[in-house]
Amino acid sequence: MSQQGYVATPPYSQSQPGMGLSSHHYGHYGDPSQATSPGMVKPAAPLGATSPGVLPPPGTLPPGPHQFGQNGAHASGQPPQRFPGSPPANSVAPSYASYQPSTQPSYPPPVATSSVTHLGTQLNAMQINNYGSGMTSPSQGSPGPLSATSFQGPPRPPQPSILQPGSQVLPPPPTALNGPGAPPLPPTLHRQEGLPGPAPLNAQYQPPPPPGQTLGAGYPQQAANYGPQMAGAQLSYPGGFPTGPSQMAGPPQLQKKLDPDSIPSPIQVIENDRATKGGQVYTTNTRGQVPPLVTTDCVIQDQGNASPRYIRCTTYCFPCTSDMAKQAQIPLAAVIKPFATIPSNETPLYLVNHGENGPVRCNRCKAYMCPFMQFIEGGRKYQCGLCNCVNDVPPFYFQHLDHIGRRLDHYEKPELSLGSYEYVATLDYCRKNRPPNPPAFIFMIDVSYSNIKNGLVKLICEELKTVLEKLPKEEQEETSAIRVGFITYNKVLHFFNVKSNLAQPQMMVVTDVGEVFVPLLDGFLVNYQESQSVIHNLLDQIPEMFADSSENETVFAPVIQAGMEALKAAECPGKLFIFHSSLPTAEAPGKLKNRDDKKLVNTDKEKLLFQPQTNVYESLAKACVSHGCSVTLFLFPSQYVDVASLSLVPQLTGGTLYKYNNFQIHLDSQQFLKDLRNDIEKKIGFDAIMRVRTSTGFRATDFFGAIFMNNTTDVEMAAIDCDKAVTVEFKHDDKLSEDTGALIQCAVLYTTIGGQRRLRIHNLGLNCSSQLADLYKSCETDALINFFAKSAFKAVLHQPLKVIREILVNQTAHMLACYRKNCASPLAVSQLILPESMKVFPVYMNCLLKNCVLLSRPEISTDERAYQRQLVMAMAVADSQLFFYPQLLPIHTLDVKNTALPAPVRCSESRLSEEGIFLLANGLHMFLWLGVSSPPELIQAIFNVPSFAHVNTDMTLLPEVGNPYSQQLRMTMNLLQQKRPYSMKLIIVKQREQPEMVFRQFLVEDKGLYGGASYVDFLCCVHKEICQLLN
Ligand SMILES: [Zn+2]
Repeated sequence: MSQQGYVATPPYSQSQPGMGLSSHHYGHYGDPSQATSPGMVKPAAPLGATSPGVLPPPGTLPPGPHQFGQNGAHASGQPPQRFPGSPPANSVAPSYASYQPSTQPSYPPPVATSSVTHLGTQLNAMQINNYGSGMTSPSQGSPGPLSATSFQGPPRPPQPSILQPGSQVLPPPPTALNGPGAPPLPPTLHRQEGLPGPAPLNAQYQPPPPPGQTLGAGYPQQAANYGPQMAGAQLSYPGGFPTGPSQMAGPPQLQKKLDPDSIPSPIQVIENDRATKGGQVYTTNTRGQVPPLVTTDCVIQDQGNASPRYIRCTTYCFPCTSDMAKQAQIPLAAVIKPFATIPSNETPLYLVNHGENGPVRCNRCKAYMCPFMQFIEGGRKYQCGLCNCVNDVPPFYFQHLDHIGRRLDHYEKPELSLGSYEYVATLDYCRKNRPPNPPAFIFMIDVSYSNIKNGLVKLICEELKTVLEKLPKEEQEETSAIRVGFITYNKVLHFFNVKSNLAQPQMMVVTDVGEVFVPLLDGFLVNYQESQSVIHNLLDQIPEMFADSSENETVFAPVIQAGMEALKAAECPGKLFIFHSSLPTAEAPGKLKNRDDKKLVNTDKEKLLFQPQTNVYESLAKACVSHGCSVTLFLFPSQYVDVASLSLVPQLTGGTLYKYNNFQIHLDSQQFLKDLRNDIEKKIGFDAIMRVRTSTGFRATDFFGAIFMNNTTDVEMAAIDCDKAVTVEFKHDDKLSEDTGALIQCAVLYTTIGGQRRLRIHNLGLNCSSQLADLYKSCETDALINFFAKSAFKAVLHQPLKVIREILVNQTAHMLACYRKNCASPLAVSQLILPESMKVFPVYMNCLLKNCVLLSRPEISTDERAYQRQLVMAMAVADSQLFFYPQLLPIHTLDVKNTALPAPVRCSESRLSEEGIFLLANGLHMFLWLGVSSPPELIQAIFNVPSFAHVNTDMTLLPEVGNPYSQQLRMTMNLLQQKRPYSMKLIIVKQREQPEMVFRQFLVEDKGLYGGASYVDFLCCVHKEICQLLN
């Protein structure tokens, strides 16, 4: 990889005063036709003629500082001092009406909520009901904006129990429940089922060496998030991970005693945030501001910090010192989704083009020009906000300052006033200092016997004819610049020449899979439009060609090798789409054997199941990354295929893994085809390097995602698409200042689908404080869970799972104990007090602990665990939130006159009812659960059959019955599916029938099917740990 771009000195040229952002660039961005393009916009004039359609009328060109936003659709109605403009108000209200009819123009002040959640010590005592007095289950209506005071105990007159910013947390009201005399929490019922043996608590959790030796070289060997364990914390996780399925049916006795409404509800937290912030405009002008939750729809306006769609943090206020950070043990991390899709009512990224000058960068730390730079000396110099170096302003970039020391062109230049923007990269940022070629897609189809037999090959070939029409292209281009190529394989490889002037496609067979070479260059990668008839001819012929093949064996590594070599020969980046079904047992590099050994489960060797069985795939991944070759794998396994080995290359090359177990054409085609279409069409950047720079005092130390690291700082991605997120952990290396805060700049150098080299910059300023309370106040639980999931799932490669689970529980207790000790009242030691921002952290953490990756159970397929592990590693916050805490909707309450989704309910069996119909979605699966007494009229409306008994559960698509209820339900399902990276397969489940067991696994507040504590049990466990830590 060329990392040169990151170290090259900017080629400042002398005096080109006319350079910089010439006005016509703005017209380009302001054009409403660009509104749906999240930044993958065409370069402005210097790189090619701007098409007339995107030029603003000449008269509107704005040299004045306050006219920047006057071009295009986003300017209307804007306060003059902000150029990107809020989206037109009328584009906001209707789409968000479902959550919040309010049309309040500005972001509302925070609702007065308590910053703490008090829970009585006697969690298993009935009196705790008092705490639920203010709560109404969402399923029972009352959609009003309930504040967190729901947990505040009996109603009482307004009193200063509300935590004001900076104030101390007030003691809870002295009720019998939480008074100082309350006895400590008794052990829970299931404690004896806890993890056996003494917890190796003080064994420092060694940071996992990254997969393989080559990766390991530069990794900081520090205790990462699993940092020093708290002395004295004796941990025993109750609720038993390993408990038998027999436990599933009856809720534990403890739950009977405790009103679930009295413990913090994720639904309530989500609904409260929606009620106060949904449908509003959120502006990013305040450093350290905690954004709305990922589950809240709002319109985000960039005013100097990156949108939370691009970056979310575990906390928006960093502790000033590393001692404080160690004390709290709250991970300091950012989840960065650099190519996040931006809704059409938000402004797409602006593109800055400095021509041959390239981006302006700090001489010392190489940070890119951004709102953190302070101009001084009349505009001749600027001080870098990250490293404090004073730099000369290059002559072409000079501008005078106004009376408050701000450049006169402040609002004209995105890089001075926005959190996110793009730069056109100069040749210094390109491989071999040459402009890149446009990327290519290579389709590689496993044509072994079973795939031909079950019709999969035919299905793929048919679909490709359609989907190739939709190859991604630059906004203003007629056709896609992406070239395509085709390979089929079983134990040998078949390359196809599809050159446009051929009457028939030509096949070239490569039998030497030990050392794959590309038998043809000319005619392999072609323009789809030009070669359309030859390609269609080929796709028609492929299923016939191999119809009589009885070949069962396949190769896999040589397939990737072939695709990579083809891209390398064509000197372009690209993506391989591999459609594969079996364990590659044919004699070839990367050959695999069935090594699925359930006896390893729950032993120290369990980690082997998650590691690839040969190092071939890692070296292959490395080669792929160095040639900009990303691999996306569609897997159709009918038995063990060793996902841990097969998925390594997709994982390390920024690709995606899709898995369809026991694929059946008539049931699963829709799900697969939707995934394929979505994957081909999605926004994507190629041959990318990401660099995260920070202001002094802290730095990025660890990275998690579908990424490759050759050194400690450059995150390499053969490709990165709109759904992939990289989670970055930060550590102190000095004191942070409350004045300057903690600044983060993420820069991604990449090649666009049109073959242009770009830099995408995201800046985010966080606060710093020497008060622990500020740190806790600014936490984001959803981001915390994303971080913990990725760090734990990375650790499973190297650590016994038991240790990882214990560390997670321990750190949970530690974080909350530190809050309890330092931020809450010294009274009522035995009371469980949760910070407002982490109120639902325990329930989410318990969901993570119960995920099949961390749950050591032989009943769960090894491949499924490896698959989910890999999925989560690349997930963004919204996806991990839904994945760990599914959405459960009471469908029987659908209102056909209202397009709003029904209010969700908590994921617990106790929320279901025999008379109800519920829809559950977690981003991978969607279940429609039918209660035994479902109203026949609803059954009729949905399925067009007279009764529950008549419903055929063997369907993955609902029939189009043609009544409002059916339409509404299908629309609801589409809404849930929207914006999700994976197509969810619909599974219909009848109450009390066998498949219900699968569904119940997703009722994550209950005790797990294969073990895993209920929410109540887990809360009791954490509370006990906290009490021990405090004593
Ligand atoms: Zn600097």
